[in-house]
Amino acid sequence: MTTKPIPPAGARRRRNPARPDRRKLLAGTGAPPDFRALIDGAVQGVLIHRNFKPLYANDAFALLFGFKNAREIMELPLLRSLVPDDVWPRLETEYDDMMRGAKDSVIGRARGLRKDGHEIWVAVTMRVVDWGGEAAMMLTAFDVTRQVEVEHDLLKNEQRLRAVLEILPYPIYIARRADGQILFVNRKSCLLFQESAGQLLRSRSTGFYIEQKDYDSIKALLDKVADIRDIEVRMKTGQGRVFTAELAAITLDYGGAPAVLVALNDISQRKEMEAELFRQASTDSLTGISNRRYFQNQAEQELRRARRFAREMAVMMIDIDHFKKINDTHGHAVGDAAIQGVVKRALESLRQSDSIGRIGGEEFAVLLPETGLAAAFDVAERLRAHMQGKPIIAERVVIPCTVSIGVAQLSAQDGGIEDLLHRADLALYTAKKCGRNRVEMAAPPEREEKEKV
Ligand code: GH3
Ligand code: MG
Ligand code: MG
Repeated sequence: MTTKPIPPAGARRRRNPARPDRRKLLAGTGAPPDFRALIDGAVQGVLIHRNFKPLYANDAFALLFGFKNAREIMELPLLRSLVPDDVWPRLETEYDDMMRGAKDSVIGRARGLRKDGHEIWVAVTMRVVDWGGEAAMMLTAFDVTRQVEVEHDLLKNEQRLRAVLEILPYPIYIARRADGQILFVNRKSCLLFQESAGQLLRSRSTGFYIEQKDYDSIKALLDKVADIRDIEVRMKTGQGRVFTAELAAITLDYGGAPAVLVALNDISQRKEMEAELFRQASTDSLTGISNRRYFQNQAEQELRRARRFAREMAVMMIDIDHFKKINDTHGHAVGDAAIQGVVKRALESLRQSDSIGRIGGEEFAVLLPETGLAAAFDVAERLRAHMQGKPIIAERVVIPCTVSIGVAQLSAQDGGIEDLLHRADLALYTAKKCGRNRVEMAAPPEREEKEKV
C-alpha cells in the first residue's frame, strides 16, 4: 500500500520558488489555510497533537475512530481514549524519543480503540512538524484491520500446515528458496537425517545433497515449474549415512518468504534390491561372470556401438577340451570346480575392456571391443597358453586342462551378433577337429567384400 505523504509544516523539503515559504507563513498564525486544506482533503486520517492533546484532525481520522467528524476529535481533552492500555506506554516513549530528536519518524502498525470500544489495526506514520511555530506531532493513519486479519488467517493456515506435515509418515522439510535455510522439519525428517529438529533448523538443505549439482538442478527446475516429483537423488545424513531418496517438491510461501516444501522417500533398500535382482538375473551363479542372456545383451550393445562409430570388434568362443573325461574321472563337483578354475585363468589373461560370459556348460564367449582379428588371435593364444601352462587345482586334485578357441572379427556382412558368434563357433569347431588346445580364426563371411566395418 502506498500512501501519499502529506507535506508537514516546516518539514525539510526542496523549496519551490513559485510558492511562498511556509515557515514564514506559519509564524504566529497557527497554520496557513492551504496546509489545513491539505489535511482536510487527505484520504488518510491525519491528526496533529502536542503531548497527546489534539490540535487539528481531519474527518477521515475521526471516521477511522468511529467519531462523526473532526470537531468531535478536537474536543477530546486527550487522545488517551483512542489507545489500548498495553499500547499506551510504547506510544509515550516514541513521542518522547521523537521530540528529543532521537528519531525523525516512526512508521508502523498499532492497535487503536474506536469510540464504540472496538479495536482496530492502523498503519501509522508519526513525524514531528512545526505547528504554529512550535513542535507538534503529526500522525497519519489508515485502517489495516482487514489486512491484519488475513495475515492472521495465513498464520493459522501455516500452523495447520505444520500440524498436517507433522503427522505425515514421510520425511518433509521446508527450506527458504534464496539460500536453502531450513524453516520447518517434521519428525520423520529428523529420523531420516539422524539429527534433532533444532540442529536441522540451524542448517541449510544444500548440506543434505551429496552432489551440489543435484541441488542446483532441482533449484533451477523449481524456477520453471511450481512442483516436481519422482526425482532420484543421493543424500546424506548428519551421521554420514548415504542414501538414495525419491524427491518431490513444491514451491510455496512460508513465513512470508518464498520457500520450497520437499517430501522425501528413502528408496535405498529398494535400489539395493533392484541391484541384487539385476545381479542375479545377469550373472552365472557358478562362476560369477555374465550369463548367456546378459552376455548377449552386452554383445548387441557393443555391436551397435562399433557400427555407429565404425570401430573394430571381435569375439571368441572357448570350449574346454575333453571335459567329459574330467567329470568321469573326478566327479561332477570337481568338474564344477574346474569350470571355476578355467574362468579364473581366463580372467587372468584377458584385458580389462574384454568381457566374458558363460554361454553353456563348459563353453564361454569373450567380447573384445576395439579389436581386430590379428589382435584378437593374440589375446586368444595368450589365454590358451596360460591355461596349458598353469594346471587347475580343484578339490586338491591337479587337473591339466586345455581349451580350444575360435576367433571372429565383426564384418559388414554379419547381420547381427548371432552371425558373428556363429562364425566364431565354426572356427572353434575347426580347432577341435584339428586336435584341440589351439586357436582358429573364423573365415570371413560369405559374399565377402574387401571392406571393413
Ligand atoms: P570336447 O573337447 O569335444 O569339447 O570334449 P568335451 O568332453 O568337453 O565335450 P563337450 O564340450 O560336448 O562336453 C560337455 C560336457 O560338459 C557335457 C557335460 O557333462 C559337461 N558339463 C556341462 N555343464 C556342466 C557343469 O555345469 N558342470 C559339470 N561338472 N559338467 C558340465
Ligand atoms: Mg562343450
Ligand atoms: Mg568341451
